[in-house]
Amino acid sequence: MLLVVVFSLTVTGGAFMRVVYQDALAKGEHDLEVGVNVLQQILDERGQQLRSNVAILADDFGFKSAVATQDTDTLRTVLANHGDRAGADMVLLSDLSDTLLASSHHPAGSTLPFTDLLEQAQQQGAGVDVIVEAGQPYEFVLLPVRAPNLIGWVGMGFLIDEALVEEIHNLTRLDISVVAQPSGDTPFYLVSSRRDLTDRTTPIDIADDPNYLTRELALNLAGPQQTLALVQVSRESLLAAYRDLQWQLLAIVGLILLLTTAAAAWSARSMSLPLTRLSDAARRIGLGQRLETIDVSPRGETGLLAGTLLSMQADIDERERALLHRSRHDPLTDLPNRSSAQECIMALIGQGQPFSLLRLAIERFGDINDTFGYALGDRVLITLAQRLAHLPSSDFQAFRLSDDEFLLLVRNLALPAGWQDTLLNDLSEPIELDASPFRPSLTAGESHSPAHGEDPHLLLRRADIALETARRQRSAWQRYQPGQDEQHVRQLRLIRDLQEAARDSQLWMAYQPKIEASTGKVSQFEALMRWQHPSLGFIPPDEFITLAERSGNIRLLTRWMIDSVCRQLAEWRSNGQTHSVAINLSAEDVIDPQLGQHLLSVLAHYDLNVEQLSLEVTESAVMQDPALAHRCLSELRQAGLTVAIDDFGTGYSSLAQLKQLPVAALKIDKSFVMSLDTQPDDVVIVRSTIDLGHRLGLSVVAEGVETAAIAAMLREFGCDELQGYLIAKPLPGHEVAAWLDHYHPRDILGLA
Ligand code: C2E
Ligand code: CA
Ligand code: CA
Repeated sequence: MLLVVVFSLTVTGGAFMRVVYQDALAKGEHDLEVGVNVLQQILDERGQQLRSNVAILADDFGFKSAVATQDTDTLRTVLANHGDRAGADMVLLSDLSDTLLASSHHPAGSTLPFTDLLEQAQQQGAGVDVIVEAGQPYEFVLLPVRAPNLIGWVGMGFLIDEALVEEIHNLTRLDISVVAQPSGDTPFYLVSSRRDLTDRTTPIDIADDPNYLTRELALNLAGPQQTLALVQVSRESLLAAYRDLQWQLLAIVGLILLLTTAAAAWSARSMSLPLTRLSDAARRIGLGQRLETIDVSPRGETGLLAGTLLSMQADIDERERALLHRSRHDPLTDLPNRSSAQECIMALIGQGQPFSLLRLAIERFGDINDTFGYALGDRVLITLAQRLAHLPSSDFQAFRLSDDEFLLLVRNLALPAGWQDTLLNDLSEPIELDASPFRPSLTAGESHSPAHGEDPHLLLRRADIALETARRQRSAWQRYQPGQDEQHVRQLRLIRDLQEAARDSQLWMAYQPKIEASTGKVSQFEALMRWQHPSLGFIPPDEFITLAERSGNIRLLTRWMIDSVCRQLAEWRSNGQTHSVAINLSAEDVIDPQLGQHLLSVLAHYDLNVEQLSLEVTESAVMQDPALAHRCLSELRQAGLTVAIDDFGTGYSSLAQLKQLPVAALKIDKSFVMSLDTQPDDVVIVRSTIDLGHRLGLSVVAEGVETAAIAAMLREFGCDELQGYLIAKPLPGHEVAAWLDHYHPRDILGLA
């Protein structure tokens, strides 16, 4: 603001002062012009007057007679009288030979000094000019005296003196000076109204006087020295008004600057300062500092802004609290979430307090959502959360871990035995959904600190492992058993390594023969998978097949197995042996609609007969999706593949369903066979199964035959085929031929 004001004042003030200055000088020039005119006029007038006075004298009869008679005394008197009357300062008279007869300033008999004037008078009848006599300027007129012939010259002059220039000075306020300029020499003053000239004789430079504006008027151009009149005005007097104005203007500018500064200071106090404070307050609020007040006037816009900032601070606080709550709580149930749980666990571990974690999962929660819709699914979650939240807070603290999982942190370790069952029962109380009661099924896994670890992640994972175990074992809850975690880690590793096992030829197939019970003749081989892990050694198929099923890799494994088996069959054939092989299928395979097609194409690829392959399927595999399994198995059967039910007796399949299946054989599970000779119950089961199978038109196979005694019993019961270590352990494909060479049924079965 100040800069703008200073700038504009300087520009306008400068422009104004320049105009005034030029105007003052122009006025001076004008005044000089007027002064020159006035001076000219005065000199002209006086010259005119002088001329008429001289003319009168020259015409005077007495005077002419005195001239003619050369009466010097009379002449002198007449001249003096006449000069006095006319007020002339110098009078003279000369004869025709230029000798002075009388003069007020020269001795009589001297030569007429003003030769230029005389010349002028001779030529024009009158000479009028300014002359200098004894350092003084005179306006002088010289006229002829005629009687009637020319008899002499008479002249009169007025002194141009201080009084005259003073008079003109008083009239025009200009300085008038008369200057003599001897030819080729510097001029000097003769008379002047200028007060500043102390020494008139000092040579001057007319053209360049810094203190004065000057106009020249030539008074006398002829003669040995010129006479000039200078009309002058001092710059100082001209610019006096201008200087006054300058000071006034400076005063005004100063005043305006002062006022502007005051205004700027005032506006800084009333606007900038509060704004600075407000912006500082906003910055501190941004940094999270808590402000109670902001130090500005509560009135006006600043007050309003301060109020808004404070209420904004309150809103931010509120939102932060809400965000913090949201980041630590589950929005649906408002239970604290997983990260809260981890913090709580961390804190308890830090305090060295023992506690238990109970991880609770709602079984088949996805199905609940699918069946009842998400709104009702949410209701189940909210109800369960409420039930958990209402447990005594001194003993329990509930969290929601994920969609279908809760966590109970149990602080009280002195709860009555079996509290887990009571709790799960209470939680599973029916929930009213769409006017029909729904009973949630919950499974729990428990871990304990410090026994099972002192790290939140570890404890949560171990509770999860316990939960998985409970699920597998179909129990309501399980406590983590030391070592399960290592088992878990091993399983993860096996699942990972299984991907490469087939490629790295760590997998191979073993073949275990089945024989006809009556003749001992080898009827078929069962293909069993083997995995030699590079670092973990032999992995039992029960273990890795289950893992492959759980991790979704079983179909790939089955394809590898089918290819391997068919290649083996082709190899045997090329060695002149024709065998038939039974392969084991998992539940996933049984419901694979492309399996039949695949089997046939691989058989065709190796140019094998469909009868050379048969299938073993467990009851439980069929029961996972009976309808689909039925359809797929029927297709396989149609294609010419026979199907046997494996592990018969361990599942829960109904006879009615079994009857429907396109099955050719039953394989009695080895758990019933292995102790047949010591367990009377098993005898009952095995006998009745054989009977049942036969009645249904199925062939019956017994696996796990380890002793000749058992083999004998089975033969007696009418079992069709036998399989077990008694006959042979599973063999690598290339050992089958050698084994067959040494196989003697009569030795084994004690046949005659
Ligand atoms: P499974 O189909 O019931 O196979 C019979 C199991 O009993 C084989 O165990 C076999 O070695 C064993 N066994 C045979 N005779 C005797 C005996 O006299 N005494 C005893 N104690 N055991 C005997 P293995 O090879 O460990 O296979 C276990 C299970 O792994 C199989 O049970 C089968 O369910 C599964 N499996 C093996 N290979 C495959 C496969 O290629 N695909 C599928 N899906 N499952 C397979
Ligand atoms: Ca089998
Ligand atoms: Ca079996």
